[in-house]
Amino acid sequence: MNLAEIKTVGVLGAGTMGNGIAHVCAKFGYHVLLRDIEQRFLDRALDTIARNLDREVSKGKVAEAERPKILARIRPVTALDALAAADFVIEAVPENLQTKAEVLRAVDAVVRPEVVLASNTSSISITALAATTLRPDRFIGMHFMNPVPVMALVEVIRGLQTSDETFTLTMELARKLEKTPVAVNDAPGFVSNRVLMPMINEAVYCVQEGVATPEAVDEVMKLGMNHPMGPLALADLIGLDVCLNILEVLHAGFGDPKYRPCPLLRKMVAAGWLGRKSGRGFYTYSR
Ligand code: NAD
Repeated sequence: MNLAEIKTVGVLGAGTMGNGIAHVCAKFGYHVLLRDIEQRFLDRALDTIARNLDREVSKGKVAEAERPKILARIRPVTALDALAAADFVIEAVPENLQTKAEVLRAVDAVVRPEVVLASNTSSISITALAATTLRPDRFIGMHFMNPVPVMALVEVIRGLQTSDETFTLTMELARKLEKTPVAVNDAPGFVSNRVLMPMINEAVYCVQEGVATPEAVDEVMKLGMNHPMGPLALADLIGLDVCLNILEVLHAGFGDPKYRPCPLLRKMVAAGWLGRKSGRGFYTYSR
């Protein structure tokens, strides 16, 4: 399979990441088969994509005339069999090994043997996910950042079994989507979360130990390190439950106490203070 042969991209999961991936693929001319388990999730995703396209049109990033064409390229489906027409598949279902393994096994049985399966996982081992399929050499990590239409980076993660052809094709596809792919090897947290999460965790320790308020921690990192956003505001945006989950993966994966999640982070997650999505995290948000 080469880049020119890819006409249709299958996207599994139409949540936060899946709708963004579908949006970007359709914007750059691909037909998209967007699959979720219920029609209402697909309706919600198409609403989001339409709204995000409106924003791009108003900013002059997408021509008005392109908008309906982009939307028309996205075909929402609930039946997995529809994925048989896909030439490349990107999985963005919830971050749970069992869920992903089930979805990947099912799609593996439906798509043509030469088709590459890519996972957008933030933290699950690409090598382990590849091993759940019958095409481990055609399996790779394609870690888009949120929000997908805006963020330039795609972390491309090679599992132990990933072939050179699969790697090259995935890098080319990311560039075709006008993203900047960065190649990394499979390891807990890859590079992005391995570097980011300990910083967020340390920021939470600063708050727990009374070293500084959340506002002060974020101000130090914004003004002192030129970060566009402080680590605690970023944690609220990502979701404190997601941060905790990734820290657990790093802690378990390396067996190194430097990744132990801060008790305050655990406590906030236990309280349901998950950040923006729950209206409260290190900051409060009106919903
Ligand atoms: P989400 O919960 O917003 O969306 C997941 C979607 O998958 C839901 O709509 C759900 O109905 C659907 N789904 C569940 N089972 C399915 C199945 N069998 N087939 C098809 N769809 C199914 O999750 P998300 O935030 O979009 O995350 C998806 C993946 O992307 C995860 O692996 C996550 O770690 C990763 N990721 C998330 C972010 C982020 O900031 N949210 C960033 C990078 C990577």
